[in-house]
Amino acid sequence: MKVYKFGGASVKDAAGVKNVAKVLASQGYENCLLVVSAIGKTTNALEVAVKHYFEKENYQQTLEDIKRSHIQIANGLFDDKNDIFGEISLFFDEMIFFLRQNKSPNYNFVYDQVVSCGEMISSKILSEYLISQGFENTWLDARDFIKTDHNYREGAVDWELTEKNIASLGKQKNYVTQGFIGSEENNFTVTLGREGSDYSAAIFAYCLDAEHMTIWKDVPGVMTGDPRKFQDVSLLSNISYEEAIEMAYYGASVIHPKTLQPLKQKNIPFFVKSFLEPEKPGTQVGISPKNEQTESYILKDGQALLRIATRDFSFIAEEHLSLIFSALAKFKIKISLMQNTAISLALCVEDKYGNILALNDELSKNFNTEIVKNVSLFTVRNADMKHLTKFYKDKDVLLEQISMRTLQMVING
Ligand code: ADP
Ligand code: ASP
Ligand code: MG
Repeated sequence: MKVYKFGGASVKDAAGVKNVAKVLASQGYENCLLVVSAIGKTTNALEVAVKHYFEKENYQQTLEDIKRSHIQIANGLFDDKNDIFGEISLFFDEMIFFLRQNKSPNYNFVYDQVVSCGEMISSKILSEYLISQGFENTWLDARDFIKTDHNYREGAVDWELTEKNIASLGKQKNYVTQGFIGSEENNFTVTLGREGSDYSAAIFAYCLDAEHMTIWKDVPGVMTGDPRKFQDVSLLSNISYEEAIEMAYYGASVIHPKTLQPLKQKNIPFFVKSFLEPEKPGTQVGISPKNEQTESYILKDGQALLRIATRDFSFIAEEHLSLIFSALAKFKIKISLMQNTAISLALCVEDKYGNILALNDELSKNFNTEIVKNVSLFTVRNADMKHLTKFYKDKDVLLEQISMRTLQMVING
């Protein structure tokens, strides 16, 4: 089977949904499993609705606005007698019913039950639209297949169960399903982390032993830098799984970092292509890599720099590190870069859940700490060591590290 993933940008409006059919026509449509994300920025909007719900603000109005934008897209795709309009309304009625009945104070649990609706609706719209255009498919609820633990908002996949479930799918058919979501043992929804639809596609590809997997993006493929942030970038036509995973890990957001590991395990060819120019080859990952030495640039913003020092001039030792790392795990704060001296440790961290001040309170019981918020991590892969100075120009560098051919710097702003 082939696995295709269509992200939010590819289905941001009615024209985008129509374009998916064009992409499929250009690729040959047989034995495909399509994974689709929420339409456009729906996930962000649903996050706001959850926040309003917990802050006892008017979350119904927020949901009403999201519903209206989906109806508007459906108006551009279906005649007004189509069942899809009833289905869209039902999703929103059920969401409001769930929120009214809900007694759980667990923000992450409620978040997952609500935010997952973005993918449920987009997948219904895409499936119905494709059927109306002659692209037969069966709509699947990904939560019946991808099983996870109870770690709401960042579910860990139960691979054994998931493989068993996905193996039950007939391989001579076409399917449309959701990215980003799975479910725990009681069938409550668990999301796989923001931007996790690429990862969902890789889970399906792995469990189906897919022939190949393609993620369709608004860029020509993986480039030497994010074209929104860097000028004069070019396409990397062939890279290895290793290069792709390193780039994704350092923050090249074109591929979700968890995507590569399942694909690499089974050597599944992986393509990143443009949904605007589907006939172009895009980037091939994992097949005869050519661009391994090409310099590429990654800017990961929204980071914080945490400096931790012992109070008594003692060395940063294993016991200290163990205390620090368990506090990071407790507050779900991830390290992007770390560097230590005899008596201090500097961590560039990503605080997805807004816990940095709580972490600081905990650490300051034992250490002297300092936080610099809103810093960026700038990474140069395969850096040309002879010309490094150009990267320092006009930058307020707070921390730097060179390992092998990778230059990294934490910069203010
Ligand atoms: P999706 O629609 O699947 O959610 P994303 O918006 O997550 O797609 O990913 C596509 C975006 O990734 C591009 O618009 C681009 O701004 C960004 N990007 C970051 N790094 C790179 C890179 N190295 N090459 C290409 N695009 C990149
Ligand atoms: N809709 C989810 C998000 O925006 C998942 C994804 O798009 O990959 O985070
Ligand atoms: Mg995305």
